[in-house]
Amino acid sequence: MSQPPAKAIVKPIVIKPTLNAAAPSSDGRKALIGLSRDELYDELEPFGVQKFRARQLWHWIYFRGAKNFAEMTTLAKSLREELETHFTLERPTASRADKSSDGTRKWLFRFPDGQEIETVHIPEDDRGALCVSSQVGCTLTCSFCHTGTQTMVRNLGAGEIVAQVMAARDDLGEWPSPMSDRQISNIVMMGMGEPLLNYDNVAKALKIVMDGDGIAISRRRITLSTSGIVPLMERCGEELGVNLAVSLHAVRDDLRDELVPINRKYPIAQLLDACRKYPGANNARRITFEYVMLKGVNDSLSDARELVRLLADIPAKVNLIPFNPWPGVAYECSEGRQIVAFAKLLNDAGLSAPVRTPRGRDILAACGQLRTESQRQRKSRPADAGDDVAEKALSPSVE
Ligand code: SAH
Ligand code: SF4
Repeated sequence: MSQPPAKAIVKPIVIKPTLNAAAPSSDGRKALIGLSRDELYDELEPFGVQKFRARQLWHWIYFRGAKNFAEMTTLAKSLREELETHFTLERPTASRADKSSDGTRKWLFRFPDGQEIETVHIPEDDRGALCVSSQVGCTLTCSFCHTGTQTMVRNLGAGEIVAQVMAARDDLGEWPSPMSDRQISNIVMMGMGEPLLNYDNVAKALKIVMDGDGIAISRRRITLSTSGIVPLMERCGEELGVNLAVSLHAVRDDLRDELVPINRKYPIAQLLDACRKYPGANNARRITFEYVMLKGVNDSLSDARELVRLLADIPAKVNLIPFNPWPGVAYECSEGRQIVAFAKLLNDAGLSAPVRTPRGRDILAACGQLRTESQRQRKSRPADAGDDVAEKALSPSVE
């Protein structure tokens, strides 16, 4: 079994929490997407727009998916024209859109400042998940993650996070917000970036996405994945009440320090303690522990036994993710039979442990595959490093 050289994969923890977010609109008009209800009222008040009219606007924007003010026929024509000169409802441009043979779609969205992120739609028979990005790049340097090799560029603003959902819905033709049979029934914050290191924007965006008179995706259908930013976990549970997924990936601190270097700051015991306290977690709403299967690194049956022991007193389920290799990476994916044996041990111990099926590989529907502006910012990957970076976080369990 090949084991990557441990020394070569240990990278320093780099966190730049002060990165600022959000590009201005392409023509200088103020973007309304991403404003809270109160902020929207405040913006519109100087134009003589009363609260009930502002509520109508909210409905047009987030329930009907209006792309411009001219469509808002319940508002006076003169008001629509005035709003059009001051405000915009623009979405990011899809610089690329691909569709996999399995139906998975990937968009490369470009913001007015030229930065790009990926958003992925993973359809299932009667539902579908949208994998949304929170940052351009990531400040954390998980050794098996391609996004972690990119230079962090900036946080996304709340509007840029919400606009990913809206632009995906535009493309899927899913307006007005359907009551049932949605193609985007679930949201997973599992795209590029660490959502809890851009907490304010992510929280603001998710509140807009959850608003019942709009996109209306309930907190029970939203999952936020974190590498373990312990101090923000409780707040996330209390304020947002979304499902939590935790990128555990190792059962010992020495190994997790290498794989997920933020572990040196918030080690396993602290992380699991925060999980025990996560508001709203119970046997009906379990915390998902993501565990990437790395051949000869973290996939032994004694690792599996230790995982069972660690999670014994937590309402937990495990998501085993076959590792997706990318050019230059030292890790390999565990053998299929090892993944099956690992999963069986967990299942026999009463831990649900589905194996995530890779989706959208043929269109490289993965984080860390940017080919244009953002790629030029990379520190350590060659310019052609967009080859088969297999899917990452692309087939979350959609519940
Ligand atoms: N930053 C957050 C969310 C984005 S990553 C986090 O780390 O949780 C979503 C999931 O994909 C995480 O569990 C991450 O560890 C996993 N992942 C990253 N690179 C991967 C790869 N090459 N193969 C398989 N899973 C990967
Ligand atoms: Fe960032 Fe998550 Fe990738 Fe780690 S796994 S580098 S936290 S995106």
